[in-house]
Amino acid sequence: QAKAIPGNSYRFFDAALAADIAAGAAIERDLARAIDAEEFFLEYQPIVGVESGSVRAFEALLRWRHPQKGITVPDDFIPAAEKTGLILPLGNWVMREACRQASGWPAPTGVVVNVASAQFRDRAFVDHVMHCLAETGLAPGRLTVEVTESVFSTDDMAVREGLRALRAHGVRVALDDFGLGFSSINNLRTFPIDQLTVDRSFARAMMENKREADLVDIILKLGQAFQVTTTVKGIESEEQLDFIRQRGASEAQGYLISAPVPASEVPAILARPKSRLSA
Ligand code: C2E
Ligand code: MG
Ligand code: MG
Repeated sequence: QAKAIPGNSYRFFDAALAADIAAGAAIERDLARAIDAEEFFLEYQPIVGVESGSVRAFEALLRWRHPQKGITVPDDFIPAAEKTGLILPLGNWVMREACRQASGWPAPTGVVVNVASAQFRDRAFVDHVMHCLAETGLAPGRLTVEVTESVFSTDDMAVREGLRALRAHGVRVALDDFGLGFSSINNLRTFPIDQLTVDRSFARAMMENKREADLVDIILKLGQAFQVTTTVKGIESEEQLDFIRQRGASEAQGYLISAPVPASEVPAILARPKSRLSA
């Protein structure tokens, strides 16, 4: 693009690129420092059975208590962590912390951990997961590893091998943001998974638009056909919950049930009367 524009635009392009690189280096230093300074922590968001209303699991969601910027959410720093490779130490920390905290919850309450595709290219990752489980005593079946469909965008053998190994050890695998990615149906055909999650953008759109509603219906039917658990995210209203219940979704997550909470509030959520979970 820069080639087509003569004169000063070259300088402009170079300056923008240089600024980009400098910003990247700054966030890299900041992330590395933050891991050492223990500025990261996890929040937990409950996932309930649509029929029973009871809590089946909590999803671990990473937060950064930044000394200047305050509490920062993953979308603001996970991309940089992936680019710099710092996702490996950070992801390993998340896995250990989530297993440690979940091991204190009553069985069979599960924990869902988001894992970036780069983590599977680390040969030691599967061993690290098994080590976390052994160390904390958490039963493998109580851990679900959530990966986005984008992990399959390149025919990534490392990811497939890693997920296969984890499943062989009894860890569950969920495909996140199902329907947003590429060749979703083929992923279901060729890859053994336990669960798929419907992205929260669908939960909103299905109430406004018949086509989107039909699409959610089809995704849930696909899940049933492949005999996997289906989890709809971003449920904010009773109407949305009713809609997915009628269409046979297994699980729901969203602000209607609870926003993500600090680990200290997990016991209170588990103690809530069931009627309040879906009301
Ligand atoms: P996700 O796995 O789809 O997680 C659900 C996101 O939806 C969370 O945002 C959650 O706070 C938000 N959410 C939950 N219920 C509702 C609702 O009813 N309405 C709306 N509008 N939003 C809702 P969060 O915590 O900002 O996380 C964003 C994404 O960052 C996650 O999406 C996940 O892909 C990624 N992520 C989070 N933690 C980790 C981590 O430890 N490692 C990696 N690699 N990625 C992570
Ligand atoms: Mg996720
Ligand atoms: Mg999502």
